[in-house]
Amino acid sequence: METYKGKSVFGGIAIGKLHIYNKKNLQVKRKHIETEEIEREVERFHKAREDAIAQLVELYEKSISSVGTSNAAIFEIHQMMLQDDDYIESTENMIQTQQVNAEYAVAMTSDNFASMFAAMEDDYMKGRAADVRDISERVLLILTGQESDCIDTEEPVIVVADDLAPSETVQMDKSKVLSFVTVHGSTNSHTAILARTMGIPALIGTPIPLEDSINGKLAIVDGDTGQIYVEPDEETFAMMQEKYKVIQTKKELLQTLKGKETVTLDGRRIMLYANIGNYKDLSLVLENDAEGIGLFRSEFLYLEGDTYPTEEEQLKIYRAVAETMAGKRVIIRTLDIGADKQADYFELPKEENPAMGCRAIRICLTRPEVFKTQLRALFRASAFGKIAIMYPMITSLSEITKIKNIVEEVKQELTEAGVPFGNPEQGIMIETPAAVIISDQLAKEVDFFSIGTNDLTQYTLAIDRQNAQLDEFYDPHHQAILRMIATTVENAHKANIWCGICGELGADPELSKLFLSIGIDELSMSPGNLLFIRKIIRETNILEEGEAIRKQFL
Ligand code: PEP
Ligand code: MG
Repeated sequence: METYKGKSVFGGIAIGKLHIYNKKNLQVKRKHIETEEIEREVERFHKAREDAIAQLVELYEKSISSVGTSNAAIFEIHQMMLQDDDYIESTENMIQTQQVNAEYAVAMTSDNFASMFAAMEDDYMKGRAADVRDISERVLLILTGQESDCIDTEEPVIVVADDLAPSETVQMDKSKVLSFVTVHGSTNSHTAILARTMGIPALIGTPIPLEDSINGKLAIVDGDTGQIYVEPDEETFAMMQEKYKVIQTKKELLQTLKGKETVTLDGRRIMLYANIGNYKDLSLVLENDAEGIGLFRSEFLYLEGDTYPTEEEQLKIYRAVAETMAGKRVIIRTLDIGADKQADYFELPKEENPAMGCRAIRICLTRPEVFKTQLRALFRASAFGKIAIMYPMITSLSEITKIKNIVEEVKQELTEAGVPFGNPEQGIMIETPAAVIISDQLAKEVDFFSIGTNDLTQYTLAIDRQNAQLDEFYDPHHQAILRMIATTVENAHKANIWCGICGELGADPELSKLFLSIGIDELSMSPGNLLFIRKIIRETNILEEGEAIRKQFL
């Protein structure tokens, strides 16, 4: 038995044969072409590029239903990259001036662009190097008449690869994939995100040798410990099979919690809501029996396009979500652009420290027209369902005053224009230490609080949440964070408003009982976690356990 340890991006156990994913041999030879052949080679390049775009259109459509719009968006980005003037001109120019074959020109352009992106400071731009390689590979496969590796085994397999491009991941027949294991890749890569959405065990950074000799060998992936056992011994096999059975049984048991109330043994009801980024995520929300939407990250609408979404476009989506949720609360957060979520057309200035820079409500208050367009759409949509509006990154009372003034203007404009609108609740995210400390004052001004523990941890511990090297220091269980949450809930209740958590900590099973014991009213999380947290809540007796738990953590 050989054991390798990687970094887990999704838990669970997979038992099956290994399938080494082979990228096609795309060794491209430089061929000199005659002057009269130049036009033909340029045409070959364009034909292959157009075919590649057509493949991507199809892939986009296909992947929406399996991985959701926000994850499928990568294929739209790839289409745009293939239409990029610089990319096209560089390839054409190489064919014409160096008199080389289209394959060689594409491969060279790919290398040049990828090196340029890789050398950039910005992590997001660095990540684009892989995308340039991905699109170029697609064009090269078409030019050379090859197809990418398809998994044509009878039984499902554990896919092992050096790294996987998002397009490769999505094109695989999902019914044939038990798990992904890659030698490279980062936790934030699109492939990792796709594996999480698919809900299958996946490891990255695994030093497994990609030799043909391991192809077809039996292996076990333990997504909880990050280990992969190749040709496991009898003892390991039995142990893992047992673990697999336990996990399966738990999953099946959780299904029985659908339709059940989220209520503690001593009768306290908790609002168990889901976080979404797009309308398409609603299928997962309904499948996992969420009682409402606790966080609709509306900025994804802004990130998907290459210009501001219009009032009508936004209205259509907000209304559809509200109507689908049929009277259940839908909390839509106003755009939280900035920091790691950048949209070029906002033309935000380059900042030394973007996490502490021009983002979220700061953009809305300095660009009221952008803010007002979204508010108009939200107020109008609120006539069609139980929409609540939530403002992110609040630090002061004066921001609330400014928001209220803008909201009044919006309402007045709608009234004057005779456009109907509802009366949505308006709340704020508590995700800065400043907001926690003045939460007694803020609570008197709004209808609800929702604690954003991701940013609250970042700003309280002074740790960039994007920096993977600081993972060991990023500790959302830090007592400072837990006390801040308790203070916020207390101050909310003193002002008779409700308080929830919509950051990742809301789904942390180790803290569920603590949150119940301090009186949390709502927990909002990714849909896949809902039933497990409902189970914990239904098994807790706050009256009996509360005090001991508070003492243990606070
Ligand atoms: C948070 O900060 O906890 C939060 C929910 O918002 P986001 O992760 O989108 O910043
Ligand atoms: Mg946040």
